[in-house]
Amino acid sequence: MRKKIVAGNWKMNMSLEEGLRFARSVDQYFREKPAGKAEVILCTPFIHLPGVAEIVKSGKVALGAQNCASEASGAYTGEVSAFMIKSTGAQYVIIGHSERRSYYNENDKLLNKKTVLALNSGLKAIFCFGEVKEEREAGTHFIIVKRQLDEGLFTLPVEEMNKIVIAYEPVWAIGTGLTATPEQAQEMHQYIRGLVKEKYGNDCAKQMPILYGGSCKPSNAAELFSKPDVDGGLIGGASLKKEDFIAIVEAV
Ligand code: PEP
Repeated sequence: MRKKIVAGNWKMNMSLEEGLRFARSVDQYFREKPAGKAEVILCTPFIHLPGVAEIVKSGKVALGAQNCASEASGAYTGEVSAFMIKSTGAQYVIIGHSERRSYYNENDKLLNKKTVLALNSGLKAIFCFGEVKEEREAGTHFIIVKRQLDEGLFTLPVEEMNKIVIAYEPVWAIGTGLTATPEQAQEMHQYIRGLVKEKYGNDCAKQMPILYGGSCKPSNAAELFSKPDVDGGLIGGASLKKEDFIAIVEAV
């Protein structure tokens, strides 16, 4: 059976002290009441990583970053490499979030380079992609998603694919309050799993976690996660409220 995952993306929120307090309280909850079938991941800003790694060391909650540099090391002022992220104790890194794609012009080729560096550094990558509103309205969303996967991810050899978590995040649903219907999510997730199967075979497709992201909250999580190809969620806004985040984990 493939893994169910709920990953919280804190984005650029919380001071160091606030973040550590929040992580402590989430970790304590899942130590007392384990998340059952779901793997819980906190994807924090870089500054929180070492402190949160220490807090979650019992292993009930995993840790990830939200981005990594596109180079391995060297004179790249202000950047943080995948290797540096790994050295904090984190296990995951988000690659290709729509905010990175749109505000920082990250394209599929660059994201592919980051993904390779992340895996070479011993991290697992949560690879994000999805269409914008105009593409959905024009009916080109399947074509867009296929291109993002072909160029960003499908250059990897099959042996590396067990270190990948796929996150379908329709851009029109991120932080907007608009959510894909469970049927829209299932339709796209099924299509994505089909693409993975075509490229890497049935075993790989069957084990690949495919997360949904986009205004997922306690009121819609259970219905979204009830779909057979939706293996959990990447949660933005609702991951900043402990009760909401826990309710979403429990919906899995
Ligand atoms: C995200 O940032 O990945 C996300 C899905 O955000 P939100 O849940 O706020 O839409």
